[in-house]
Amino acid sequence: MKLVLATSNKGKVREIKALCNEHEVIPYSELIDEFEIIEDGETFKENALIKARAVFEALNDDSVIVVADDSGISVDVLEGEPGIYSARYAGVDASDKDNLYKLIDSIKEKGLKSSPAYYTAAIAIVSNDFEYCVHGWMYGNAHTVVSGNGGFGYDPIFIPLGYDLTLGVLDDEIKKKLSHRSKALSLAKIILETL
Ligand code: IMP
Repeated sequence: MKLVLATSNKGKVREIKALCNEHEVIPYSELIDEFEIIEDGETFKENALIKARAVFEALNDDSVIVVADDSGISVDVLEGEPGIYSARYAGVDASDKDNLYKLIDSIKEKGLKSSPAYYTAAIAIVSNDFEYCVHGWMYGNAHTVVSGNGGFGYDPIFIPLGYDLTLGVLDDEIKKKLSHRSKALSLAKIILETL
């Protein structure tokens, strides 16, 4: 099955391709020019559906199935921040690195070295005939010391429950088993198999 991804985030594209290797997965930017999508939903689910619908409409091809991921990290000591604002925590044009260091500073400002945290992924699947959205979560701790350069985004400070090392250090195969995205995608794949 050919799936068009409503993202050009390299980290997400790499992970989704690896997790969906039985399907042909194409970032939408390989088919049409990238365009700005206003993510003004109030939940991961709303934003995933906004992205998937926007790309489906822009492609103007009734035969495509579009898959969108909206994801982020929620930190307990920050009352769930940055949550749906994870990609723009340090500002609209912030890089992953800016966001990572802003999160470290926010935890330090609470006088702490770490906090329980979790990642959420909402995966929307949109076609001409249906819309679905499924979720996955990964629990652990967000630390104030950066370690490793694997993964992307907040991974160099996130230690999954049951591990002593960050996702920046742990092997990709471990993240593949544990991640919010892999859990949501395994549900999405069950839906895709029924089509
Ligand atoms: P989105 O592209 O609007 O869904 O934003 C996702 C944000 O959450 C980005 O800032 C990512 O860095 C962060 N994020 C989502 N999933 C992960 C992950 O698996 N590892 C690290 N950061 C993630």
